[in-house]
Amino acid sequence: MRFMMYRDEQTTGLAVQVDGGAFRSLSAGDAKFPGTLDEIVRRGPTAFRDASLALATGKLIDSSQLEFLPPFSRASKIICVGLNYADHSAESGMKTPDYPTVFARFNSSLVAHGQPLICPKVSTAFDYEGEMVAVIGQGGRNIPEEDALDHVAGYSVFNDGSVRDYQLRTPQWTIGKNFDGTGAFGPYFVTEDELPRGAKGLRLETRLNGHTMQNASTSDLIFDVARLVSLVSVSMTLEPGDLIVTGTPAGVGNARKPPVFMKPGDVCEIEIEKIGVLKNPVIAQPQ
Ligand code: MG
Repeated sequence: MRFMMYRDEQTTGLAVQVDGGAFRSLSAGDAKFPGTLDEIVRRGPTAFRDASLALATGKLIDSSQLEFLPPFSRASKIICVGLNYADHSAESGMKTPDYPTVFARFNSSLVAHGQPLICPKVSTAFDYEGEMVAVIGQGGRNIPEEDALDHVAGYSVFNDGSVRDYQLRTPQWTIGKNFDGTGAFGPYFVTEDELPRGAKGLRLETRLNGHTMQNASTSDLIFDVARLVSLVSVSMTLEPGDLIVTGTPAGVGNARKPPVFMKPGDVCEIEIEKIGVLKNPVIAQPQ
């Protein structure tokens, strides 16, 4: 199942793709509206199927004409993983890690597909990072690696927009990864049953103004989705709707010679095979 969240005038809507083609939707206020994806994921494993059946009775929509919302915007945790592709770790001057580099993002940094990424006025180094997101379905603590994929509800696409001059100011990356309007997320949430197990073997490509900047396979992750879920759950209880943003491959702008950063007027696209294309214009931070 492929879902999208959108804004319909003043209300929130949810749509599902029907038979691989058009989307059918219901809006908050419609009697059969199943809720937001944040709400549905908390209802348990059959809730997406129930929501899909309800939405199939809704109206046909043209998804290209809608204002998208992030698929999930109330995650209790957004866990991001740094340096999770060997080639990116090398280009960053780091050795391949034997434990994942984990940092946090907050919901306040998120923007949806089609919304602008905001180039901070205090920065001259706003970088892109194309990444796959795993969305937790069933929560848990100390989840064994062999069971971990049963805890993943589905996948989406993320641009972990990074304000490098702030990220690298200290060893802690939190500030440089949490400027408002720097984390693009969407357009779709795709349930795990539609994808290869663990979303392995999917082509990930980042394009800046149409030029390919990153091109990798999700099979190249150092710590795959199952290992990440298991390792993170050693320390914290994962909850339904939590996001694990799995890391970016080589080709980021900061590692290029000369560096290539995003600037107002640019368009950045992240495409992951079988999941979707996340496209965002870049604008200057308003005064
Ligand atoms: Mg990243």
